[in-house]
Amino acid sequence: MFMNADLEKLIVLQRLDSAAHDARTKLADQPEREKALDARIAAARDVVASAKEKLTESQNVRREHEKTVALHQGRLSKFREQAMAVKTNQEYHAIQHEISFAQNEMKAAEDAVLEKMLEGDDLTAAVKRAEADLAAEQKKVDADKKALAADAAEQKAALEKLAAERADVVKSLTPSVLATFELVSKRRNGIAIAEARDGICVVCHVRMRPQVFNDVRKNEQILQCDSCNRIFYFVPKPAAAPADAAAQPAQ
Ligand SMILES: [Zn+2]
Repeated sequence: MFMNADLEKLIVLQRLDSAAHDARTKLADQPEREKALDARIAAARDVVASAKEKLTESQNVRREHEKTVALHQGRLSKFREQAMAVKTNQEYHAIQHEISFAQNEMKAAEDAVLEKMLEGDDLTAAVKRAEADLAAEQKKVDADKKALAADAAEQKAALEKLAAERADVVKSLTPSVLATFELVSKRRNGIAIAEARDGICVVCHVRMRPQVFNDVRKNEQILQCDSCNRIFYFVPKPAAAPADAAAQPAQ
């Protein structure tokens, strides 16, 4: 298929520019992706911290109950000593009453200590789980960061290669055609060419005049879209495939 030499090069140039744009976009996304990885670690650390906090809280409550147990133990031994020395039946009953009250209080505190011990086992296990999760997340994030750095290096290398290829293409282009391409590219978000298909600019979707489309189909001249100014190119439909189409190149 015949095509204007400049037009052919513009298609290459556009491919290079679009690839460079993709590479730059990926590079620009890097800080955001790195932040997201750091956020994953921070979240896992938060889980560990909150599990530890719950454990500490539970241990503090348990210590309070242990103090209560010790307090009543002290009172009980004092009451038992006093019980040995009582003179009257009334005194004896009074002290028995004190002993029974202290025993009940101590029993309640001991139950509470036991409950907190069991809770402590669960909370300790939860801390260990959270720490294991953090370690696993750290490993994954380290791997992801490594991949991210490798990707950045790849994009930078691609950009260098694309720039070199672009310089080659630019050298061989008619300067006025290059100027038009650059101008449209700048004004149209980096897309300076557009396929003309079925009489329509596929980028801005505006229908062209039939005569313009007829000219565009020939791929002989540099023609621009009236609406978006992009430079048109035409991709002929593959001829109706004969039975032995396998030998025919694609497009
Ligand atoms: Zn257009």
